[in-house]
Amino acid sequence: MKFIQLIKSTSLIIISALSTTALADNSWSTYHWATTTTIVNLPVIDSVTSDWQGSFDNSIAQWDKSANISNIVESTDDRSRIRKRCSAKTGKMKVCNASYGYNGWAGLASINIDSNGHIVKGVAKMNDSYMAGDTDDYRNHVMCQEMGHIYGLGHTSEDGSSQETCMDYSDDLASQWPNDHDYQLLSAIYNHVDDYDSAIANSESNSDGDATPCRGGPKKCGSNSNASLGIKVFQRGRAQIWVSHGENGSTWIHHITLAKGYNDIVHDDSH
Ligand SMILES: [Zn+2]
Ligand SMILES: [Zn+2]
Repeated sequence: MKFIQLIKSTSLIIISALSTTALADNSWSTYHWATTTTIVNLPVIDSVTSDWQGSFDNSIAQWDKSANISNIVESTDDRSRIRKRCSAKTGKMKVCNASYGYNGWAGLASINIDSNGHIVKGVAKMNDSYMAGDTDDYRNHVMCQEMGHIYGLGHTSEDGSSQETCMDYSDDLASQWPNDHDYQLLSAIYNHVDDYDSAIANSESNSDGDATPCRGGPKKCGSNSNASLGIKVFQRGRAQIWVSHGENGSTWIHHITLAKGYNDIVHDDSH
């Protein structure tokens, strides 16, 4: 892909990122799942191991309190190879944990946006390379936040201050889960109907088959590779947003929670 093409097609996204920055509001933009009913009936593929199951289940239950979100949990097999690949499935959110390597990020939420500007799939990854030894409350915070991004939310802050929501960047014990403000934002985001639903059950098999290893070498295929993130359009504190091209003219938006102690991802040419 040519860099200039990427710049052209992402300029709108960059502008919207910058203009939204001016608002003290965590709807990062107007990205949302298309819904014909104001409720997103979202299949969520559970690809986490037992040590993340509590964070996953609780995050799902908390986000389900939103009148506009109805999570429908589905399973897939928990083999390491499947979790490492964590391939997105059309119409669904997928949540995985694995040791993705010392790539600089603890959590990564990627949403794929169609040509109408709607989210059509999302993937949330928890990096055990950094978080395996973290406390439950921190893991809850990251799990809950990455899921929040998949619904279309941004952060309430990135400076470490507490808004008592998982969408902030504080270590406050009260910041493990969504708060009423998040539910209000979801109401605002989803308070209209679209002419199609982008959250779709049975759109694509949850299975990744044998998930045979990629043969393009570690730079292209390594799970700790950041090569596919595209270009960085935002950073504040330990939060970054990257944008890359997807298939069929779609766009990927990647929300990164940097690992503690990092101020950037580990770029691929540096290892
Ligand atoms: Zn819409
Ligand atoms: Zn985030």
